[in-house]
Amino acid sequence: MVFAAKEPEGEGPWYGIGIDIEKCIGCGNCASSCKQENDVPEEPFYFRSWVEKYTIMENEEVIVQAPNGGIDGFDQDVENEDIMKSFFVPKMCNHCHKSPCVQVCPVGATFDSPDGVVLVDQEYCIGCRYCIQACPYGCRYIHPEKKVVDKCTLCYHRIVKGLPPACMDVCPTGARIFGDLRDKKGDLHKFIKKHNCHVLKSHLNTGSKLYYNGLNQEVR
Ligand code: SF4
Ligand code: SF4
Repeated sequence: MVFAAKEPEGEGPWYGIGIDIEKCIGCGNCASSCKQENDVPEEPFYFRSWVEKYTIMENEEVIVQAPNGGIDGFDQDVENEDIMKSFFVPKMCNHCHKSPCVQVCPVGATFDSPDGVVLVDQEYCIGCRYCIQACPYGCRYIHPEKKVVDKCTLCYHRIVKGLPPACMDVCPTGARIFGDLRDKKGDLHKFIKKHNCHVLKSHLNTGSKLYYNGLNQEVR
């Protein structure tokens, strides 16, 4: 098991996310609800959350698809008998504890909330794109109208009211789990404890707080 982030001393919640790849059916509800909830531009270049389909072929070729972030479903354009396995990988901001994006922001517009959510103050953002280059997970974009950086807020406007993030609320299979990493009896802790969870790109030591069950070594 890889525990990428060790919670800092303190009180109150410290939020993280679990994703169970074994449960994801690639319906794209999460990506679609995220766009609606957070006014993410409709064009298929802008996502705060999206779903990728990995197809591992018998000849070990790896095909990765994410047409419109998975919102419109996925085409199957290779023969079934040539496929070794295929699976879906939902992605979003990892709300890293040692986030490269926070470290490079020259004006402090990208910051950590006390409850472990990486946020952007769009009033302060100067649109320099340093954080977009620094994020190893491709989770940021320049908003085409606001001309400043936009990314997943873990639906901060919802979680402060005790509601789950929109993407977790609409997942029909419970593949996405939201929780407090300080709550040792909570659902997220139970999930991490039960499964052999891994984070993406653990070698980069970003302190990712997005824990995957069923993460295949081919996933980038
Ligand atoms: S995933 Fe990217 S945008 Fe999110 S906290 Fe980590 S480095 Fe920053
Ligand atoms: S809503 Fe759930 S099952 Fe559907 S694509 Fe997203 S994570 Fe997978």
